[in-house]
Amino acid sequence: MGRLIRGLAGDGSFRILAAETTDVVEEARQRHGLSPTATAALGRALTGAALLAFLLSKTPRERVTLKIEGEGPLGHLVAEAGVDGKVRGYVGRPEADVPLSEKGKLDVGRLIGPGELRVMRTLPNGEIYDSSVPLVSGEIAEDLAHYLLKSEQIPSAVLLGVRVSPEGPVEAAGGMVVQVLPGASEEAIQKLEANLKEIPGFSSLLKEKGLEDAVEKVLEDLGFEATSLKELGLEGGIPVRFACRCDREKARDSLRFFGPEELEEMAKEGGAEVVCRWCGEVYKFSPEEVRALIADGAHEAREG
Ligand SMILES: [Zn+2]
Repeated sequence: MGRLIRGLAGDGSFRILAAETTDVVEEARQRHGLSPTATAALGRALTGAALLAFLLSKTPRERVTLKIEGEGPLGHLVAEAGVDGKVRGYVGRPEADVPLSEKGKLDVGRLIGPGELRVMRTLPNGEIYDSSVPLVSGEIAEDLAHYLLKSEQIPSAVLLGVRVSPEGPVEAAGGMVVQVLPGASEEAIQKLEANLKEIPGFSSLLKEKGLEDAVEKVLEDLGFEATSLKELGLEGGIPVRFACRCDREKARDSLRFFGPEELEEMAKEGGAEVVCRWCGEVYKFSPEEVRALIADGAHEAREG
């Protein structure tokens, strides 16, 4: 399970959200069979979605969905997170990969390519706020900072990092948003900029120091103070986990889309399999269950 912490820094100049999402990204990698660079891409987006959900939501039960349509080998990327700490997401081509960049890093920008970032906020009443910006680099952190400035008028620094071992598993993943609050002091902003130039990638900091100390390092000499979550019983931070909203009944319902002939064909071939695109979960239905849907459909048709 991952976790998210909040706080303030720079004498009220900055609002901070930071998350450690190693387990979340590793689960996404395993569920979707992601290549190393696709793991970094989706992992950054899942972490970014979680941070934005907590940054932008005004009420509980809101959700933030990031959609990236890139021209690179990965195809599209979708990541969704809610203030319940549940995140999920998928990519167009999980196996797609590209060579390491000249600096020896996973080249997420190249895997995504030029394109567009769309951010949708779903309110509890179902209302959706939708806004798009062109991708700046396809590296996601920079793109989210650009979105926050252009669409939400929130100046910020966004850090996202996923470190994948050569054998596959995710070694460290996480991210951080530093929101520059109105009235922020010029001195604090300059110090932050200097700190950001000096630090290694956020995933390296996270692996080396753990979440709290990684955040302290980014905000060195800016007096980071974590918001106490004690009254919520969440001393260690808000839990963040990979969790889907699919279930067997929703999967069964999706089969109702097919006509009786198609369903009969599936039954003859041994049954049906529905794969959730969000989480990769496979739901299998026996020939008897598939034929029951045909009977249901005929019943509904007669009634309708
Ligand atoms: Zn699912």
